[in-house]
Amino acid sequence: MKLEDLLQATHEKQASMFRALNSRNYLLTKINGIDLWIYDVETKMFHVMFRDGSGNVQSSSHPILDYDETAEGKFNAGRPLCRESQKRWNDLLYRLSIDPSMPEEGYIDLDYKDRSRRIRSHYTVTKDTNGNIEYITGTSEDISKTQEHMHSVIESQNEYISIINGLKSTFDSILYINLTNHSFKFLEGTMAMRNLSEQHTNALDYLKELSSKLVMPEYQDKFDILSNPDELKTRLESGRSVSFEFQGIDKVWIKLRIHPAEYTAQGYLTHVILTTEVVDEEHKTLDQLKMRSEHDGLTGLYNRAAGVALIEDLLRKESGILALFDCDKFKLINDSFGHLVGDKVLIVVAQTLQKVFEDQVVFRLGGDEFVCFLQQSFIDRKAEEGLNTIGIFKQLREELQKVDIPEMCGQCPSASFGVARSDKDHLIEFDELYKTADISLYQCKKYGRNDLHKM
Ligand code: GH3
Ligand code: MG
Repeated sequence: MKLEDLLQATHEKQASMFRALNSRNYLLTKINGIDLWIYDVETKMFHVMFRDGSGNVQSSSHPILDYDETAEGKFNAGRPLCRESQKRWNDLLYRLSIDPSMPEEGYIDLDYKDRSRRIRSHYTVTKDTNGNIEYITGTSEDISKTQEHMHSVIESQNEYISIINGLKSTFDSILYINLTNHSFKFLEGTMAMRNLSEQHTNALDYLKELSSKLVMPEYQDKFDILSNPDELKTRLESGRSVSFEFQGIDKVWIKLRIHPAEYTAQGYLTHVILTTEVVDEEHKTLDQLKMRSEHDGLTGLYNRAAGVALIEDLLRKESGILALFDCDKFKLINDSFGHLVGDKVLIVVAQTLQKVFEDQVVFRLGGDEFVCFLQQSFIDRKAEEGLNTIGIFKQLREELQKVDIPEMCGQCPSASFGVARSDKDHLIEFDELYKTADISLYQCKKYGRNDLHKM
């Protein structure tokens, strides 16, 4: 049956058709794939009207329902619907056509054979004045796209939400940045960050202001990488994130990471996710470990390894005097007053060395031996204050004489020392200087300990 024939159908049929048409008119005029149909109960003919690929209205007719076929669920291989859908569709049309108690309106979803498409058929049953079913009208539209779309939208939204939630539980702030136009989305962060984000549309401007307000000045230039998207793209090329650590204005250590997020089909990076997390605890632990590895547990001075390294570095920069100290008769202190008192002496000697030699490098070489490097600038400074080098060592002796350790019954510790001069222009390595200072120390011990004659 042609469209013209349908249009010449009975008034009631037309009215019903147009009711259906009106309700779906907006779709029918805009979208291909909406079919308009009428099933004539009397002739058992199914007429369908649709738009073809060129947008022209077409129509076709075929017998669809046969009671026996339906009851047996006979499958028509020529029809596009899958077996199960064909059967449900036939059953429904059959029941609608014979059973007045069936709902007069409704819909049924039908799948194509390869499940590539899903059709939703809305139907309306039209009865004559006696209540006999005359025809069933309806529309069929392809909802596979909508369903798929909805599904994938929900799926990707869920995925997105769970990813963001996962990120939120790990990171303290999250920004999603478009590298092409520098737009950004603020996903997580402090109130201060959020407030600032609302004043910006450009991620680079935002981050610049953020760094100037919330980051310690010495770390602000690290943020420059963010203002150069091309460099960023190169650094993120491997697909791994870029990270660096900085201190916020409240001195808290923060780790900033830039993760590659989205690429074009050609593999060109278009979006990144920027996260921060507070890593203060890790830093404190690292600082403690570093502190422990570089310092002597008893006196708190640098230990041998750290002290030697620092002095070796200084020897190249500045001339000065390497001084070696060894407590006098220390074994006797241990033997007379006990090891704990001996320890106290070592601590006091260390403190006194630090007091007298101020900012100069002092370290515990081991046992009752200490080393100090007096830089020329320190010696000159002291000279300006009227204290020559012997004066500095005298001061040390005087300070040690003031030490009062009650358990030592008025006896105070003393130390002998040996020195070696170092000239930065004629570099002598630490070990050599140490040997010279040790000989000098030996002399000092030999000449009666706590003696300044060697100077
Ligand atoms: P001298 O005047 O010739 O230096 O005599 P001395 O008794 O000080 O001899 P020496 O420097 O060789 O002895 C150092 C002693 O320091 C030996 C060791 O028992 C003791 N000693 C080493 N480390 C510690 C420590 O951590 N605590 C204490 N209490 N004693 C230590
Ligand atoms: Mg000693």
